[in-house]
Amino acid sequence: MNDHSLDGNAMAGLLGEIFPFEMTSVRALCAGCGAMEALGRESVYADAPGMVMRCLHCEAILIRAVEGGGRIWIDMRGVACLQVHGE
Ligand SMILES: [Zn+2]
Repeated sequence: MNDHSLDGNAMAGLLGEIFPFEMTSVRALCAGCGAMEALGRESVYADAPGMVMRCLHCEAILIRAVEGGGRIWIDMRGVACLQVHGE
């Protein structure tokens, strides 16, 4: 991979515009390897078109987000399940 990796906080702000949760503490189940990890700990690459979040364990793409023209596209096909903590 490259060394432009950011942590999950870099994408949490954008995701927070869509989801009403504190996204860094939301956990994602990777559809590729089955690892459950907090979004705040995953690797984010901002030099792709938009932003890409990759699994910390297998580097599969979890979430792709592209923002432009007042719209946001979120591709979450790499996430099998989101775990959100209730109140
Ligand atoms: Zn994985």
